[in-house]
Amino acid sequence: MATNQTLDYDALVVGGGIAGLQAALDLADQDYRVAIVERDASIGGKMIRLSKVFPTLDCASCITTPKMAAAAHHPNITLYTYAEGRAIGAAAEADGFRADLTLKARFVDQNRCIGCRQCEYHCPVLVPDMEQGGFSARKAIYIPFSNAIPQIALLDSEHCMLCGQCEKVCPTGAIAYQQQPQALVLNARAVILTTGFEVMPLADKQQYGNGRIPNVITALQMERLLAPHGPYNRVLRPSDGMEPGSIAYIQCAGSRDQSMGQAYCSRVCCMYAIKQAMLLSGALPLADITVYYMDIRAFGKGYEQFYQNSRAMGIQFIKGKVATLGAGPDGAVAVRYEAQEAEGGSVSASHDLVVLSLGLTPGWNPEPVCGVSRASDGFIKTVRPKTAATLTDHEGVFVAGAAAGPKDIVDTIAEAGAAAMEAAVYLARKQPRRQAAA
Ligand SMILES: Cc1cc2nc3c(=O)[nH]c(=O)nc-3n(C[C@H](O)[C@H](O)[C@H](O)COP(=O)(O)OP(=O)(O)OC[C@H]3O[C@@H](n4cnc5c(N)ncnc54)[C@H](O)[C@@H]3O)c2cc1C
Repeated sequence: MATNQTLDYDALVVGGGIAGLQAALDLADQDYRVAIVERDASIGGKMIRLSKVFPTLDCASCITTPKMAAAAHHPNITLYTYAEGRAIGAAAEADGFRADLTLKARFVDQNRCIGCRQCEYHCPVLVPDMEQGGFSARKAIYIPFSNAIPQIALLDSEHCMLCGQCEKVCPTGAIAYQQQPQALVLNARAVILTTGFEVMPLADKQQYGNGRIPNVITALQMERLLAPHGPYNRVLRPSDGMEPGSIAYIQCAGSRDQSMGQAYCSRVCCMYAIKQAMLLSGALPLADITVYYMDIRAFGKGYEQFYQNSRAMGIQFIKGKVATLGAGPDGAVAVRYEAQEAEGGSVSASHDLVVLSLGLTPGWNPEPVCGVSRASDGFIKTVRPKTAATLTDHEGVFVAGAAAGPKDIVDTIAEAGAAAMEAAVYLARKQPRRQAAA
């Protein structure tokens, strides 16, 4: 690994999703110097990958992009993307933390890349684009998505054929095939963990086909099908490009499921399924949309009304636990569920496309890196969940957003503000910036 540079900040924010961006902006606006470390090649987290957001149906990227840009251009914020912390521990000399980071190799010199995408246009290699749910292709050298920040290309060394096309067309000589990961040390006096969540892997749910049934997709994939810059620019069934006439949502696919080790409710799945169902009924007015659910948890401000609106739009809600999914004829998906209303009993149905509302799992385990504990659900433990929800069991380390447990964007942003305030109070206590008047 190349050079070991050391840089000093007031606060280190680990995770550049909406929680990390908000916490960093709130601290930076108070004149604290903040470093954001993000393991992806762009900041923005899950929110920048969503279509629209409940309960207002605002465009997700219209809200997220300005926050991303504000963080990127803030004089007190430095972004380290495509970077990961190897160890975050006590600093040697003074109070605070030392974070050992690895800046992963992009094989592109980020000081030279101007984001013109010439490399991408000329690259001959096509790879499934996971940013688009795997439904379309990207190149082996690429910018992750159109409003990614920073607009710097990265080369996927696993698929690159080393044909040299990108190097030939790059107007600034930015291609660096020999680039090595870089080690970096950041010193900070406080840390905020905003490492978010992942959705439960499809492959883990055997009753739902372990991810091998065509036309059973995740809700995050549906977000891409519904997004304005989605893979097909309309909602089509992935196996054959058919416009689906019947779409089903399976709620609690993994959440509240002891057999999957996830006894907790993931909190956002009812609302995002209702949101997607409403968006689908706009995109495909003739389609039948069914939501199979155990309970509808419309807990937030305006959420119950949102749910009632979806019923009024004709979306069908069936109370029943889906036991199994199977491949049906002509790409259909066979659904078997235990009905909990009417006569009850085991019922079969068939749908053109099935969306799994998969549970949320922790995005990262902090224990081996910074010694902060996890709660029994695997999310970062908070020591005073009622009165100071952002305190971890490590002094000077705070947590916000889905890193501490599944939550929606409203609660994530509010919690990020709270974490920034706790961190600011902590920083001021450790090293007062102003003397009180005599
Ligand atoms: C399908 C779906 C639809 C949704 N729709 C809505 C909606 O309409 N409205 C709503 O309110 N909520 C919605 N949500 C919930 C919303 O996505 C979350 O509230 C929000 O993304 C939480 O933000 P966050 O910053 O805490 O986490 P994330 O968005 O997960 O961001 C965490 C960031 O941390 C980074 N990271 C993780 N580990 C590390 C590490 N070790 N080092 C560096 N970086 C790291 C990740 O790469 C990521 O960028 C939806 C969720 C899903 C799954």
